[in-house]
Amino acid sequence: MRPILFISDLHLDGARPDITDQFLTFLSTDARKAQSLYILGDLFETWIGDDDPDLDKHRIQAALRELTGSGVPCFVMHGNRDFLIGKRFCKSTGCRLLNDGTIVEVFGQRVLLMHGDTLCTDDHSYQALRRRVRNPMVQFVLRNLPLSTRNWLAAKLRAGSKAHIDKAMAMQSVATIMDVNADAVTQAFVTYGVDIVIHGHTHRPAIHSLQVNGRSATRIVLGDWYTQGSVLRWDETGYQLLSMGRSEKNAPY
Ligand code: MN
Repeated sequence: MRPILFISDLHLDGARPDITDQFLTFLSTDARKAQSLYILGDLFETWIGDDDPDLDKHRIQAALRELTGSGVPCFVMHGNRDFLIGKRFCKSTGCRLLNDGTIVEVFGQRVLLMHGDTLCTDDHSYQALRRRVRNPMVQFVLRNLPLSTRNWLAAKLRAGSKAHIDKAMAMQSVATIMDVNADAVTQAFVTYGVDIVIHGHTHRPAIHSLQVNGRSATRIVLGDWYTQGSVLRWDETGYQLLSMGRSEKNAPY
């Protein structure tokens, strides 16, 4: 049976063409042979609106359209970087937008899909920012600003995010405040009534086994694509969290 693939945190950006190249290759090879593809947030480093004329972004959208056109369903979830992805993107790519916190059935198992930022509840300043930018009124205003203003705002947000991370690193708290909070994880398992969750965001790829109210639970964290590709491949024999080397320079010979 064809596998179901899960990826996240590619952070596609004109400044990192090697990631885009690898993603385009992935779409035309591995993804083509899949049953479906799930992208769990931060596909793009920034997304200032579906009307962005950026050529790189158009090339990526065309490649997604080819994938969905070939009969492979593709599902996209907002990340904290690309939360303005909207209806026009879905129309042009054939992708379907998933709510953060969606349950899907994967080879007979109920699986919770999240981006993962909502689990990082120790990062109070980030959570406050998230509440502001996810407010529907704020989003309406953002979407209707001129492109140039949105570009400027995106650059400011990126700089702010970098300063935030730098400050946390200086305080040596980055490891704890920017990872998931154990109580928030337990709460997610309980609220959604699942035994398995897949998320990204923290860039700490791993498969964690834990106990939730006496039941065995699994939290799968997808990796980012900064230095290599990362994919969770799930078929009828089970799942594997794989890293995919980038071009010849990463090959073992
Ligand atoms: Mn993220």
